Amino acid sequence: MKNSTQPTSPKKIICDIFGHKYEVTKDVTFHVKEYTCKCCKRQLTTNGNGSLTELTPKFKEINATLARIYTNKLERMKASRFNSSAA
Ligand SMILES: [Zn+2]
Repeated sequence: MKNSTQPTSPKKIICDIFGHKYEVTKDVTFHVKEYTCKCCKRQLTTNGNGSLTELTPKFKEINATLARIYTNKLERMKASRFNSSAA
């Protein structure tokens, strides 16, 4: 199987006809996720309105920030749970 990087792959045409086969590639937060099409590798993400949008570099940046905040919040929640049980 050749791993060609042609800009116009026949898979893209399959997607245009049958629709994309998105799978979750990253859980950014509980609500925000990143998706990649298994077929043409097109990337989508959840935007602020909860709908899907193209994963642009701008959105990647936003998601990275969200993920950092989200992870910190989870860590704090875990920590406070431990603290409250100790107190
Ligand atoms: Zn696709």
